[in-house]
Amino acid sequence: MRILLAVLYAFTLTCVSTAQSQAVFIRAGVLIDGKSDSPLRDQVIVIRGNLIESVSSASSAKIPADAQVIDLSHATVLPGLIDSHTHIFLQGEDRAQGGYDANILKQPLSLRAARATVAARRALEQGFTTIRDVETEGAGYGDVGIKQAIEAGYIPGPRMFVATRAISTTGGYPLEDYAPELEMPKGAQIIDGPVEARKAAREQLDHGADWIKVYMTHRSWIGKDGDLVSQPTLTVEELRAIVDEAHSWQRKVACHAYNGIGLQRALDGGCDSIEHGLEITDAQISQMLKQGTWYCPTISVYYRDWPPADTPAGQRDRKRASVHELSFKKALKANLKIVFGTDVGGFPWTEPIAQEFPRMVDLGMSPMDAIKSATSRAAEMLDMEGKIGVIAPGAYADIIAVNGEPLQGIKILEKITFVMKEGKVFRQ
Ligand SMILES: [Zn+2]
Repeated sequence: MRILLAVLYAFTLTCVSTAQSQAVFIRAGVLIDGKSDSPLRDQVIVIRGNLIESVSSASSAKIPADAQVIDLSHATVLPGLIDSHTHIFLQGEDRAQGGYDANILKQPLSLRAARATVAARRALEQGFTTIRDVETEGAGYGDVGIKQAIEAGYIPGPRMFVATRAISTTGGYPLEDYAPELEMPKGAQIIDGPVEARKAAREQLDHGADWIKVYMTHRSWIGKDGDLVSQPTLTVEELRAIVDEAHSWQRKVACHAYNGIGLQRALDGGCDSIEHGLEITDAQISQMLKQGTWYCPTISVYYRDWPPADTPAGQRDRKRASVHELSFKKALKANLKIVFGTDVGGFPWTEPIAQEFPRMVDLGMSPMDAIKSATSRAAEMLDMEGKIGVIAPGAYADIIAVNGEPLQGIKILEKITFVMKEGKVFRQ
């Protein structure tokens, strides 16, 4: 038996090494490499194992007669896309069916995990080969397990950066509005005080968090002057304890922050990325530039499900969208570091994730910069520069293609026709 196992083992090793030594050639009609300012034409990408070995013009490339060739010469080829703000444990919960609360109160964790598995596959089949999934909304460390299942090859899915439980304060996260006598579960880990904050960060990092997600604002409403007001949550001291802990583990902190006091505390506390950032003042933009803070705006999700315009919630939602547009335009002008993020899960995974691209372009971002925000720029934020978000030698072979010209019409990115992750073709 032992001999048989040894033989089998040797056989497996041989298969793997043979597979790795055989190069795969991709012919690209148009190549947007994620980093260059303009596309290249008629290129050949050579892939060996899970990495890109070389990229060269078709005229100079030597393709052996018996080589494995993937012909994308009539398509536009791009690096696998990166969504820096997703929630695989949310499914765009319908309010009429109990919404967010029912997801936590009525769905067994196994059901939520099964649905998260489908969400992960949906990301990959739409060309998103990497996601930063910013908290599980009451599903504990479920994201760590899904990530492990993808890495071990049990299920298809993108490369995942996970944030696990997220952190907020008392009065700073649902479930809420229940009888005060009831001890309700919360969608995030609740802390009060710097000691609890640091302990929560340590627990989350210990259990596999690649990023820490912190909610720096919670409720928002229209104030007496007609402006958008957001309730702040953590103090600067609480956030500093988390940031200090995360940074010493060489991890980063993403802060959900709409505007006002909470957004200011996020910046003063040393947050690495501002999520949503609906209303950012000029002074705050300067501070972000100085501190190198990333901006992940997630625009599209704020145009959904508006209540009627004559209701307080309807007015608030319209105000959110209008100040968000201004902030995004200011951020563009100031050359802030912007990454593509959608909050998908906040809307159903059946919808196109790439719907965020036309929003960014409509508000003045160039199509090429929008693509970079979902490729090389996001890679930079994730400390994966040169490894993902780019088609270049040494990068992972995360490659997608679309039948059309994304620089002419960015909406075409909703119709990805070819997906390869780490040299393995997932969709063709
Ligand atoms: Zn979110």
